[in-house]
Amino acid sequence: MVNPDREISLNHGMETVAIPGPSIIPQRVLNAFSRPMPDIYAGNLLDVSDRIFERLPAIARTSGEPFVIISNGHGAWQMAVSNTLSRGDKVLVLESGRFAIVWGELAEVSGVKMEILPGSDTRPVDPDALRARLADDPGHEIKAVLSVHTDTATSVRNDIPALRAAIDAAGHPALFMVDCIASMGCEPYEMDEWGVDITIAAAQKGMMVPPGLAFLWANEKALAAYDSSDLHVGYLNWGSRRNPEAIYQRYSGTPPVSHLFALDEALTMMDEEGLEARWDRHRALAGAVWAAVDAWSTPDGIGFNIAEPENRSTAVTTVRTGSIDAEEIRRRCAEGANVTLGLGIGDLSTGGGFRIGHMGYLNPPMLLGTLGTIEAALAAMGAPMGGSGVGAAAASLGSYL
Ligand SMILES: *Cc1c(COP(=O)(O)O)cnc(C)c1O
Repeated sequence: MVNPDREISLNHGMETVAIPGPSIIPQRVLNAFSRPMPDIYAGNLLDVSDRIFERLPAIARTSGEPFVIISNGHGAWQMAVSNTLSRGDKVLVLESGRFAIVWGELAEVSGVKMEILPGSDTRPVDPDALRARLADDPGHEIKAVLSVHTDTATSVRNDIPALRAAIDAAGHPALFMVDCIASMGCEPYEMDEWGVDITIAAAQKGMMVPPGLAFLWANEKALAAYDSSDLHVGYLNWGSRRNPEAIYQRYSGTPPVSHLFALDEALTMMDEEGLEARWDRHRALAGAVWAAVDAWSTPDGIGFNIAEPENRSTAVTTVRTGSIDAEEIRRRCAEGANVTLGLGIGDLSTGGGFRIGHMGYLNPPMLLGTLGTIEAALAAMGAPMGGSGVGAAAASLGSYL
């Protein structure tokens, strides 16, 4: 018998995180955690750790040296600063949203001076503005340029080769440090070819591993800066982590055993797929998200935060919601369907927008499920919609099936 008064809940089955990290973790990676503790000084764990260090450079496309930190992304930010800079040094932070600025604020706590190159929440960093600012620093007071590749708040992707070219055009020797926490393993990135001195990433975004590990890659120039830097912090010190006597020094203590098993499995999955195939897949899935947002969009309703497709991240999309309450969309998706969407950040934090993470372990049914749920919430709210985003997304994906 159907009881018409009973409320029906659809909030069952698998939960879907469609936030820009932590992203959905593959079962294979989760299974890798379920192993008993090994000997940490001999045997299989040493092979696993060696395999990880051998494979990490290729992920960032560098011959530079990788480091693995037991931390979130903030730990990699700190490692970059404290191994290369000195008290009183100035860093130039390139604004294109929130994350580069938070990195600069963290550096300030260590006694580094921060200057922000003003930018926008809707466009990538302007290379000409960077060139002009560096050209105006004849004494080379600026020791490092800090940028994000993809800003996870605005979903803009910066043109890293153009920023490198701007530094070169100014003839400036500053270290170029790039935060790829949101983009690593998802979006094309060529550390060596693009002339980046330090790259950082974290486990929980496109790398398909739960939060708890961060990564840093340093080239020769960055490693050389260590010798004159006076901000060394024991735990994050490159000196003892490089060429370690034993695995113990490599991680500044007990290795993160279970996370290493998981990372090893995730790297194997990345190898099986191929890095460039992953970049292509993310582009195809992002194309479906953009088709949906395009179809939903109306003048005072849904719209993109980043207007030009070539400036958009293919790992996360920030959606402006105009007159529609984004918090109600998020609440309906979460409570009604167990789909978690990303919060709006910055000027979108008060209901003016939300974010869709589409990074890492993701395929068309997973993505269409999220987009369909958003569309169902919009329809339930009576929100203005230009057309069916799900239909547009399916059509976009159809070209790959
Ligand atoms: C997620 C993110 C961070 C912060 O990483 P945590 O692991 O939370 O410290 C920094 N930068 C970017 C670009 C990010 O996407």
